[in-house]
Amino acid sequence: MKFEHLPHPAPVPDADRAQAIADPGFGKIFTDHMVMIDYDEGEGWHDATLGPCQPIPLHPASSVLHYAQEIFEGMKAYRLSDGSMALFRPDANARRFNESAKRLAMPEIPEDVFIEAVRQLVLKDADWFPQVDGGSLYIRPFMFANEHFLGVRPATKYKFIVILSPAGNYFKSGSPAVSVWVSEYTRAAPGGTGAAKCGGNYAASLVPTGEAFAKGHDQVVFLDAAERKWIEELGGMNLFFVFEDGSMITPPLTGTILPGITRDSLLTLAREQGLDVREEMYSIDQWRDDAASGKLVETFACGTAAVVTAVGKVASRDGEFTIGSGGAGQMTSKLREQLVGIQRGSVDDRHGWVMRLE
Ligand SMILES: *Cc1c(COP(=O)(O)O)cnc(C)c1O
Repeated sequence: MKFEHLPHPAPVPDADRAQAIADPGFGKIFTDHMVMIDYDEGEGWHDATLGPCQPIPLHPASSVLHYAQEIFEGMKAYRLSDGSMALFRPDANARRFNESAKRLAMPEIPEDVFIEAVRQLVLKDADWFPQVDGGSLYIRPFMFANEHFLGVRPATKYKFIVILSPAGNYFKSGSPAVSVWVSEYTRAAPGGTGAAKCGGNYAASLVPTGEAFAKGHDQVVFLDAAERKWIEELGGMNLFFVFEDGSMITPPLTGTILPGITRDSLLTLAREQGLDVREEMYSIDQWRDDAASGKLVETFACGTAAVVTAVGKVASRDGEFTIGSGGAGQMTSKLREQLVGIQRGSVDDRHGWVMRLE
């Protein structure tokens, strides 16, 4: 597929851009350009453009506004120690995007088109890469239904778009341990959309997350919807549990958990070091008991945005408990360093996960 490069009438001036990316935060500023590709049932994917990042006019009957056929991905462009830019496992994002598309009755997009869209956009807006410590270009590919029709059925027209947002270090002061609230709301039911990265899952997580914030916690933990017993994941990160004998557990991918690429990468890294990592159900009661007895020494959350983050404190309606010393443990720090090292090019990339852009 050929991407038509459209001229930008007024890119952000150098000085303003430099100021914007000096302290970018997360998801607040956007680069000059975006990629857009249209789909309709007859033509398939067509009219790929790389042009100014600007508002998209939508008809009020646009199907996404009513029935929420929308999916997205979250990935980052990193700067390697030698100065070049790279993506981390973009093929895995492209594959997962298509899995999400299938669940939401949306058309798949060829993996090479997805990756090429990301590659061209990152190269185009490379000047927006934030030079701050731990900085990256956060990449947001997404797709939504855009047919003017109110009947309930899959739309016949879609838009695929990629935008970029310069991002600083997710946590201002290094990576502190977070405090989590175990919610009574659930995120995903068996047979539902829990394994798809769709906007609707996030809409449903906002009230429970707001409740966690209001109680003074950083994140929400969801239990399974059927028994309200098994730990699933956070609102946007997967969980790992580390035991005193060095073994680990992460909840299995049963269809209600988002299959994180960070999760998969950490499983691979841990297993190749001979660590015993089991994909196994783990209950909230066991978590509490094991933390109290000292059998459980660490818990961490993982995802693209914050990479690997220690969980220090857990609170629920039944009270609170602390994990280990309440700070980041050894395994959490070691795995984070290894993964970040591969992403930044300072640790050998034995799995071909890093795709250089230049
Ligand atoms: C995106 C996401 C994750 C993390 O996936 P990564 O590929 O590691 O970034 C975990 N849980 C949910 C609900 C997510 O949406």
